[in-house]
Amino acid sequence: MKQLRNNVIRAGLEALYFTGAHHLLRPIFSGVGAIFMLHHVRPPRDGEFQPNHHLEVTPEFLRSMLSHLRARGIDIITMDELHRRLIGRNFSRRFACFTFDDGYRDNRDFALPVMREFDAPLTVYVASDFAEGTGRMWWIALEMAIARASSIEARIGGVTARLDTSTPAAKQAAFDRLHHWLRGLPGEHDVQREIAALCAHHGVDDAAICRELCMSWDELKPFADDPLVTIGAHIITHCNLAKQSEEIAGHEMAISRARIEDALRRPVVHLAYPYGDKIAAGGREFALARAAGFKTAVTTRPGMIFAGSAGHLTALPRVSLNGNYQDVRILPVLTSGAATAMWNGFRRIDAA
Ligand SMILES: [Zn+2]
Repeated sequence: MKQLRNNVIRAGLEALYFTGAHHLLRPIFSGVGAIFMLHHVRPPRDGEFQPNHHLEVTPEFLRSMLSHLRARGIDIITMDELHRRLIGRNFSRRFACFTFDDGYRDNRDFALPVMREFDAPLTVYVASDFAEGTGRMWWIALEMAIARASSIEARIGGVTARLDTSTPAAKQAAFDRLHHWLRGLPGEHDVQREIAALCAHHGVDDAAICRELCMSWDELKPFADDPLVTIGAHIITHCNLAKQSEEIAGHEMAISRARIEDALRRPVVHLAYPYGDKIAAGGREFALARAAGFKTAVTTRPGMIFAGSAGHLTALPRVSLNGNYQDVRILPVLTSGAATAMWNGFRRIDAA
């Protein structure tokens, strides 16, 4: 199913490229700028089973995107500057922002050096529990458990299912099914309980994952001192905010902000909602982010920035740089707004 979806997206991107439709759509959908969304930036890894591959791009692909933007004379700006331009209705020059979610160490080791080549600023959204070394990255724990198992048992919908995970294709199918099931569980503790059981059974050290992949507070301090770097908040536990009570969702936003400000001794005024799609962030979360004092908050809803986005500063859409489509031919398609327009049903602003 996921493969089919990937193929449809790829066919769509290629169709937009080969038909030249992105040229026709550009004046209508390219807006005034874009916020690009990334997660990992690192060299390609070996191995057929990489179910989280959409969350990583290579340093070369990031470099291609930056060159493309520079060649088109597009300003690469901070989220503070984006806020200023939207509020001040300053759209004389097109702009792009680069944002990175979760706080991975590879952002420092691979993304920052490339950003530096272009003197381009970046915003990294830190989940405070990841920096603390106590967070849980269940989607990676799931990948690791499946990678080492030849079959997996899980109680899905009250029935014990035994999933074959003996080949790369079977592993991918099992990952898709379990990922879907886990995201649909009612509470965060349900996800953590199921993942903890899987990890215990298959010998995965769930607690070590975020320490292995994410920057600690001690690493974040010098990183945040780099003049190109802005640190934003990505809440405390990286939970799905829409599934929490209003009180807990507000607490997650406000306390993560306070913890980061306290540890890094600088104001934190930009937020990214974990997962960030419609089932993780909606009207209630957009209002809570405003109330918590954030100047901007970004979703993972696909879209470009338009002048009208100034009225929805805590519901900003982004353009994903997806690891499954690292083809330089799609760069003009992404900056034309045609791809995101196709994905969001040809709406310019989708902030409800
Ligand atoms: Zn995240």
